[in-house]
Amino acid sequence: MTTHPNLCALDAGHMASLVERLGWPSYRTRQILQWIYQHRIRDIAGMSNLSLMDRETLGREAVMERLASPTLFQSADGTMKFLFSLQDGLTVESVLIPDGRRLTQCVSTQVGCTLDCGFCVTGHMGLKRNLKAHEIVDQILTAQDHLRPGDRISSLVFMGMGEPLANFDELSEALTRLTDTEWGMGFPKRRITISTAGFSPRLHEVAKLGVNLAISLNASTSEQRARLMPMMNRLHPLPDLLAACRAYPIPANRHLTFEYVLLQGENDSADDAVRLSRLLRGIRCKINLIPFNEFPGNPFRRPEDPVIAAFQTILRQKGYDVFIRHNRGRDVLGACGQLGTLPGRTGAESLSIGP
Ligand code: SAH
Repeated sequence: MTTHPNLCALDAGHMASLVERLGWPSYRTRQILQWIYQHRIRDIAGMSNLSLMDRETLGREAVMERLASPTLFQSADGTMKFLFSLQDGLTVESVLIPDGRRLTQCVSTQVGCTLDCGFCVTGHMGLKRNLKAHEIVDQILTAQDHLRPGDRISSLVFMGMGEPLANFDELSEALTRLTDTEWGMGFPKRRITISTAGFSPRLHEVAKLGVNLAISLNASTSEQRARLMPMMNRLHPLPDLLAACRAYPIPANRHLTFEYVLLQGENDSADDAVRLSRLLRGIRCKINLIPFNEFPGNPFRRPEDPVIAAFQTILRQKGYDVFIRHNRGRDVLGACGQLGTLPGRTGAESLSIGP
């Protein structure tokens, strides 16, 4: 039995081979890709600049399969969480966060995660599998489908489930489809940020992608990082990570972003703030403080607001741009570190307005 390829799963090269095999002119490759990524159609029948006969031929050779319609959870603050069921029954989540005129989508790259950082729900699931490029891109196509005409996703952050740099090949193929201006979705690279828990040897490959880089540092000493992010710290110790950040070729007018989850009594003291300022000395960066989002069964606590503010003040006095990430979508378990399922939790406690 021959299995028909899914057009959504083909990269541009394989699409070109298919077009060639059908004996079609090469511009047809671009037309098909544009239908998928620019017009976001869902079936071959919709490719109206192909003759009916050509559409039938294509339909005999290939299928077009987007992800099934997600379940939507609408937060009181306007944040929307999408829960996608993949073909093998696994689920993955993505979050759309409106902020003034901006609309940011937080995208997942893996189902679960290998890293098991002590403060993150996704890590507690273990890694189920890497997402394919088309499963990454489909999160964005589908979110865009749900917007009112005229509204457009303005930025993408790869800060959803999983460690993007542990799925680098599929991630970079997804980025090609998201950024290509001729046939892809045309997102500007400067509006895309990849976040890593610290895969230092991969940073120079990220630099070649031309997108922004965020590093989840979360600790001010090696000993602390070993306690909070044991797996990551064993793989790539803090000094290696900082050296890779110092060597990173930051383009003009851009900066690195360091994320720092604030955990009460763990990494939120004035000494931590001072140590953090020393660690980052000389790196053109901004710092995002993320007050910990609590979840059932997890021992960590969120610091009191004055402690968070004091931490920010110290870093500002040392000359850094420091922002506190307001936790959006907490009521639908859509905030940082809340994506995924824990044993005994289905996510169904969130208010569903879908499918
Ligand atoms: N693995 C990548 C991509 C995930 S980004 C990375 O670590 O960068 C998810 C962000 O949320 C990271 O900065 C992480 O440190 C943070 N985070 C994880 N769990 C959290 C929690 N419970 N509360 C607040 N932030 C959390």
